[in-house]
Amino acid sequence: MAKVAKDLNPGVKKVCELCKGAAPPDSPVVYSDRAGYNKQWHPTCFVCAKCSEPLVDLIYFWKDGAPWCGRHYCESLRPRCSGCDEIIFAEDYQRVEDLAWHRKHFVCEGCEQLLSGRAYIVTKGQLLCPTCSKSKRS
Ligand SMILES: [Zn+2]
Ligand SMILES: [Zn+2]
Ligand SMILES: [Zn+2]
Ligand SMILES: [Zn+2]
Repeated sequence: MAKVAKDLNPGVKKVCELCKGAAPPDSPVVYSDRAGYNKQWHPTCFVCAKCSEPLVDLIYFWKDGAPWCGRHYCESLRPRCSGCDEIIFAEDYQRVEDLAWHRKHFVCEGCEQLLSGRAYIVTKGQLLCPTCSKSKRS
């Protein structure tokens, strides 16, 4: 948990990790056990990287050098559907290489037929049935 603390390193100039602004001496700053005690934030700057919800004294997660709220951290771990661009929460989804689709969105981008259990071709992130793939190429 991130804690608001009084100056742990007096005399050292402190810069907030988020806004890069100086933290005034003697003002409380936030230290995160996950980031190490050489990094600090203004209490108002220790927020979720995604939704900017304040995370001081709350459970937070650490990712890409920034704090995340539980909700957005979990979302960031979920695959995103290449069809509708929404996060996939179901465990049952279609996966091809590093791309993912909702089962119902695993459709040909040319003729929109459902391709679950059928032959399909993925080229440059585009999902096509063999027929549309051929007509695209010609
Ligand atoms: Zn700041
Ligand atoms: Zn968030
Ligand atoms: Zn989808
Ligand atoms: Zn097609």
